[in-house]
Amino acid sequence: MTEITVIHNGIVFCPEKKTFTKKDLYIGNGYIMDSKDIKSSDHFKKWDAEGNYVSPGFIDMHVHVFENHAKIGIHADKVGINQGVTTLVDAGSTGYNNFEQFKKEIIDKNVTEVLSLLNISSTGLIEGLSELSDSKNLMSETMWKEIKNAEPSIVGLKARMSQSVVGNQGIRPLKYAIKLANQANVPIMAHIGSPPPPLEDILSLLREGDIVTHAFHGKKGGIIDDNGNLIPAAQKALERGVKFDVGHGTSSFSYNTIKRFKSKYSYPFSVSTDIYERNFEQPVGSLMDTISKLLAIGYTLEELLQSVTIIPAQILSLSNYGSLKPGSKADITVFNIVENECILFDSSGEKMMVNQRLIPQATWKNGNLVYQRG
Ligand SMILES: [Zn+2]
Repeated sequence: MTEITVIHNGIVFCPEKKTFTKKDLYIGNGYIMDSKDIKSSDHFKKWDAEGNYVSPGFIDMHVHVFENHAKIGIHADKVGINQGVTTLVDAGSTGYNNFEQFKKEIIDKNVTEVLSLLNISSTGLIEGLSELSDSKNLMSETMWKEIKNAEPSIVGLKARMSQSVVGNQGIRPLKYAIKLANQANVPIMAHIGSPPPPLEDILSLLREGDIVTHAFHGKKGGIIDDNGNLIPAAQKALERGVKFDVGHGTSSFSYNTIKRFKSKYSYPFSVSTDIYERNFEQPVGSLMDTISKLLAIGYTLEELLQSVTIIPAQILSLSNYGSLKPGSKADITVFNIVENECILFDSSGEKMMVNQRLIPQATWKNGNLVYQRG
């Protein structure tokens, strides 16, 4: 006899087909089950999802959750399971020197699964935010090999490539990051912001599968030129298979930029928050708020759900994640959409009237109900 959870009569999203179907979803032993495999002798526990959407668990691939250490860290479960996010990827808060502590205090202590894009600087964001301005901070090839082999939660590398981070090191840290990434066959998430180094130099180095976070920032020197077109290096990067990621953050998501992008380009991208203690209240809010903003811009719910499930799972090679196919990990996000007007901000202080807002209702991680809205 198997203990089976039935999420009953929800509007179930299929990210592979981009469709919604009203049906029951079955979970057993931590995985999504095929209804054909259910026996009448099984023991059923029903959760009524009438009127709610049922999605594969959301993956937020850019957050900072090194609470109490990196000055900006936020409590993982607060922005994780409590907000319908079953997997968080900490993007560079920790480097080689502090990963052990991160693992003990964060990865092991939260219900939300926490993965890491390890900072190529050994200090991560612990000793300030100019971690790549001194080449002495770069993680050595020996350190990288050792830690990558030992830690399955490290899914790639983070290189923050903007002026305040790299000082006078220019493009060199990114070249080094590529060398390390090639050795372990993992993606690099490159943060972009105010140049130097020029965005063209960053984009032309990135490989297929690498990620540009803060892609839609509103600072000078971004991906869109004055005529509203992608700069040629950005166009070429997309064609090569480089991925764009939102990475909302305190100063990295502009309604104006995303609207200009949307008016001419239909490329998919991943949606992430770059959430941390200081931007949690304003302007980021949560991953669901970030999705609500993009919904108001005109992206469809189907597109946006893909961009927090199957797209990040593919980019980070997380097999069994981001799907509700039988055999997938039973990470599930249940939410509803509340229709009332509210104002949500971007990172440039611009307001937008949003009239549909996603609200988390329940979260399952590995088949266990870990959050339920009270
Ligand atoms: Zn960040």
